[in-house]
Amino acid sequence: MIPRLLSKEASLPITKSPEETKNLAEDLIRKIDSPVCITLFGDLGAGKTVFVKGLAKGLDIDDIIKSPTYVLLRSYSGRMKLNHIDLYRIATCDEFLPFEETLLDEGITAIEWAERAEMFLPDERIEVKLKILSRNSREIIINDFRNRREQ
Ligand code: ADP
Ligand code: MG
Repeated sequence: MIPRLLSKEASLPITKSPEETKNLAEDLIRKIDSPVCITLFGDLGAGKTVFVKGLAKGLDIDDIIKSPTYVLLRSYSGRMKLNHIDLYRIATCDEFLPFEETLLDEGITAIEWAERAEMFLPDERIEVKLKILSRNSREIIINDFRNRREQ
């Protein structure tokens, strides 16, 4: 599982700054070289977009990552393509449908507010849950469900 791969000292999955969250995401994605959907859960300000910025860094993407809150999807090219989706503004899950084919893309698709279109998302994915513990600390739990169908 990814958390074990990530933490050298098997510590609690807590970051104490945005940089630490970015580094965690960067470390995660540097170990991945095939397309996957990464679902991001957590309240507003939990650090989902910060996490995606770390993914972009780990994919050698130099562009500035801007939250796709209004456009819903932004794509970037790097070591692998990064599709960054933010479902915060969708009113019903049907609004996700135009983006469904993005999931078939040869790339990494990171989805903020993934719970808003849960039924359209693949079971085989990496789930990231961010929880605000205090102003600068976040609990980040990562579950790798890429082999879920076989289990
Ligand atoms: P979300 O996309 O989940 O709404 P953002 O990533 O846009 O949240 O914002 C997270 C905010 O929390 C940023 O202002 C960031 O600087 C701040 N922050 C403070 N500590 C952390 C941390 N440990 N990890 C991530 N972000 C943090
Ligand atoms: Mg965000």
